Amino acid sequence: MQSTLSPKCSSVYGSVKSWRFGNSLGIDPIGVVSTCSFNCVYCQLGKIQTHTTQRQIFVPTSQIIEDLQALVPYEQVDVITLSGSGEPTLALNLGEILVIAKQLTQRPTVVLTNATLLRDTQVRHALKSADIVATKLDAISSNQLQRVNQPVATINLPHILAGIEQFRGEYPGTLAIQTMVLSPWTTEMIEIYIQLIQRLQPDEIQLNVPSRPRTLVRQLEARGNDATEFISEAMQQLKCISADTLSTLAETINCATNIPVRYAPASVIS
Ligand code: SF4
Repeated sequence: MQSTLSPKCSSVYGSVKSWRFGNSLGIDPIGVVSTCSFNCVYCQLGKIQTHTTQRQIFVPTSQIIEDLQALVPYEQVDVITLSGSGEPTLALNLGEILVIAKQLTQRPTVVLTNATLLRDTQVRHALKSADIVATKLDAISSNQLQRVNQPVATINLPHILAGIEQFRGEYPGTLAIQTMVLSPWTTEMIEIYIQLIQRLQPDEIQLNVPSRPRTLVRQLEARGNDATEFISEAMQQLKCISADTLSTLAETINCATNIPVRYAPASVIS
């Protein structure tokens, strides 16, 4: 089944300001129906409508090309980011989109993925066309994975970690691990996280916090995860840790791993 966007709804959105990547022009390869293998408690898309690991073509590459070409020139754009209305690696045309987006815009490409499909050879191959891949790692235990990310039943933490590790071994680009910090971590949690990072060897760690209340219903305008201007009435406040706690956590991880740790600026937290 192909869920194309309506003629009025572009598969390209933004640009939005990202503290991680600068001015980011988003490509949404998923479309109108939010589709993901997770259903994260903080997801800005609201409750995920199709919870699946099934890959398919959601938005034809020809439509994405047309929507990108409508925005020429790309002077204000620093990067092209594939995320949008769900998990971008579910899109079977991901590799093709990455190659064409780079050719058209001459900008670096970024993919934000939840890492659940990285055991799939075709997914890892497609991602090699991206300049930066940021993989989500919010959970250090199976229990936390269930509570925070609410994956489809076939996904578990060892499976995700093995996928990231395998991808790291093959991927020559910049690999970032993105972690959403919802509450202060215990010493034991920090130690386990550091051990995981030492195993996965990313080029960079990005500690994030929920920047906006969570939307409770599907909102297409919420595709840019760093957009700050979009506020809906149907939102749920999420707890947030302080800027000081986040910076101390970042410093501890950096000291132990020697891997650069970036974290959400205070303006996003407060
Ligand atoms: S935050 Fe990302 S990974 Fe989590 S449910 Fe939303 S789209 Fe999926």
